[in-house]
Amino acid sequence: MSFTTDLIHSIPVDESTGAISVPIYQTTTFVHSSPGVHQGYDYTRSGNPTRKVLEDLIATAEKGSTGAAFASGMAAIDAVLRLLKTGDHVIAGNDIYGGTYRLLTTLYKNFGITVSFVDLQNEAEILLAITPQTRLIWVETPTNPSLKIVDIRKVSHIAKSKNLLLCVDNTFATPAAQRPIELGADLVVHSATKYIGGHSDVISGLVVAATKELGDQILYVQNAAGAILSPIESWLLIRGLETLELRFKQHSENAQAIAEYLSERPEVKEVFYPGLKVHAGHSVAASQQKYFGGIVSFRLKEDTIEAARKFTTSTKLFKLAESLGGIKSLIAHPASMTHASIPKERHPAFGITDGLLRLSVGLEYPVDLIKDLKSALKSVAINESALIL
Ligand SMILES: *Cc1c(COP(=O)(O)O)cnc(C)c1O
Repeated sequence: MSFTTDLIHSIPVDESTGAISVPIYQTTTFVHSSPGVHQGYDYTRSGNPTRKVLEDLIATAEKGSTGAAFASGMAAIDAVLRLLKTGDHVIAGNDIYGGTYRLLTTLYKNFGITVSFVDLQNEAEILLAITPQTRLIWVETPTNPSLKIVDIRKVSHIAKSKNLLLCVDNTFATPAAQRPIELGADLVVHSATKYIGGHSDVISGLVVAATKELGDQILYVQNAAGAILSPIESWLLIRGLETLELRFKQHSENAQAIAEYLSERPEVKEVFYPGLKVHAGHSVAASQQKYFGGIVSFRLKEDTIEAARKFTTSTKLFKLAESLGGIKSLIAHPASMTHASIPKERHPAFGITDGLLRLSVGLEYPVDLIKDLKSALKSVAINESALIL
């Protein structure tokens, strides 16, 4: 069965009422018929029927064994990192999400976990970073904001040969486009706040484990540490998953049109989008992603904070805001917003300069979005001829 058909029909019809939408079990506790005897649920931190539908659904979508839902993407990432022990070493991409960078380099550092940040596009660099203490490789692809592509199959060969866990943060690609477990990953995490929720209205995270054994360890952390997703928010993600592919396909089509448009503009120095044939990761992306995604980054020719300010205050449809993956188009200035917590000296590793802008392309009509960008480009026109549209 195709991805979306399978997903839609994996959502069970409610047996007791026939309700076609999953009931929201807004309850903390469940009545026992006698001590220790209940119908599979006893307390919502440990398990909730609405959350269970979501957890099974994301496991199906990612072709994994076990799903677990958390109160945020960071809580999901934290649950995976809790599989580590003092003394363990992690290898992570040198341009991973700022929150993951912060978690590893501050809180987990306090517990004696060390981390090496490497260019995961370079196998030799990964091999060189592996020590006898290495336990986990942490991958994001496409990366944020420079949209670099990591070859998941290649990294998974290294992980398997060295007996390391491989976790992929699949937030930017979603299971509609990329399924890391099929490419060899052991664990997948999501900030479901982004495309899976899809409507900029729920903070949430998901973990999928390839095996039941790993999945049980994640569920243990979920119950023991307690950063669970609420029933109503679980329901919102079930609803999001129903239209995920439809939305993601359109986000990707719109982003492709915008990336191609920006590539031809004299006010733009460089465009980063894996769907462009000139993108360094295009062929790897095409081999592991069904869609290239909804994020486009670009560097203004005038690579300054002033130009970035002029541009981002000139767009009307692209709203200036953090986050991504929703219906409405957003624009962000990574140097001062999404990546402000990353030390300035590390910005080059992320491809961040003052004139770099990131678009989360929404579901408006692409002609309208391009018109909006065209008018904002006037604010950073480099010469008279650029004003002739
Ligand atoms: C947003 C994001 C996170 C963190 O998720 P929250 O839901 O904000 O906690 C993690 N990884 C990536 C790639 C993200 O974009």
